[in-house]
Amino acid sequence: MLQTTIAGSLPKPLWLAEPEKLWAPWRLEGAALEEGKRDATILAVKLQEDAGLDIVGDGEQARVHFVHGFLANLDGIDFAKKTLMGIRNNRYKAEVPTVTGPIRRKGPVHAMEAAAARAHTARKLKFTLPGPMTIVDTIADEHYGRREDLAMAFAAVLNEEAKELQALGVDIVQFDEPAFNVYMKEVSDWGVAALERAAEGLTCTTAVHICYGYGIKANIDWKATLGDSWRHYEETFPALRKSSIGQVSLECRNSRVPLDLIRLLDGKDVLAGCIDVASDAVETPEEVAETIRAVLAYVAPEKLFPCTNCGMAPMTRGVAYGKLAALAKGAALVRRELAG
Ligand code: ZN
Repeated sequence: MLQTTIAGSLPKPLWLAEPEKLWAPWRLEGAALEEGKRDATILAVKLQEDAGLDIVGDGEQARVHFVHGFLANLDGIDFAKKTLMGIRNNRYKAEVPTVTGPIRRKGPVHAMEAAAARAHTARKLKFTLPGPMTIVDTIADEHYGRREDLAMAFAAVLNEEAKELQALGVDIVQFDEPAFNVYMKEVSDWGVAALERAAEGLTCTTAVHICYGYGIKANIDWKATLGDSWRHYEETFPALRKSSIGQVSLECRNSRVPLDLIRLLDGKDVLAGCIDVASDAVETPEEVAETIRAVLAYVAPEKLFPCTNCGMAPMTRGVAYGKLAALAKGAALVRRELAG
């Protein structure tokens, strides 16, 4: 019970990419970059093990960004055709590539780092992919026209990739859908359907991560406008509860999410964010334990997975891995309490 894990991304080593940045430029190229991505993946897995996590991930070391990393090996996208677009309902602007034709997968996207991670850990391995709605919200479209049609096209290629990851020995495939906290009506209209299409036929554990974003200024400013009670999950959890997705990852630590909304996920595994990714203050194990105890009021310990609120890519490595060690220690504290 209380198996610990991460939401997804971790900071990259200084020799691989510029630090403390989203979309950080690579510092290597060609064959050296490929080898560097592989080495950084193995290192991230080992550092998560050292921190004491039960379920480890690739730390998204081989991707420039959690969405655009997946798009790198698809047909139908013109990366040279950059569009400056307001994303997450115009919360921030990003230069995004453009869909100009039918979306098809040229071949495996993440096989290298999934195989490298699998070969170097005996622990459970989670692999993250961007969810269809979040991809649609992070790319310009000149071909499909309707967001739901584009989402289904991405869901089909995500499904191909997810099945290959499963065959490589990945235990959990997680789709990241921060857009689910922005377009709540569309989540029930087509977001969950696209998510289920992406997960169709998987026999490994499936998860969806829904958060209030990385700890970057645009997100911190946005959260300041959301008032005292963040009830976005209230609109999406009922549809997710009815879905085929096994696990739901949400923010808890330092967030204004009323924890009783977790009741709406009855029957699902809950990945509760016990680590704030918008603050460099490293939680104490006792602070982590407090969050876990609060969440235990709404979910059984065998269905509760202490996690981070979101990815940690823009943080320093010292802070990020310090927080992961606190996460593992805090979970151990509560495990001992429950064991009596
Ligand atoms: Zn997130």
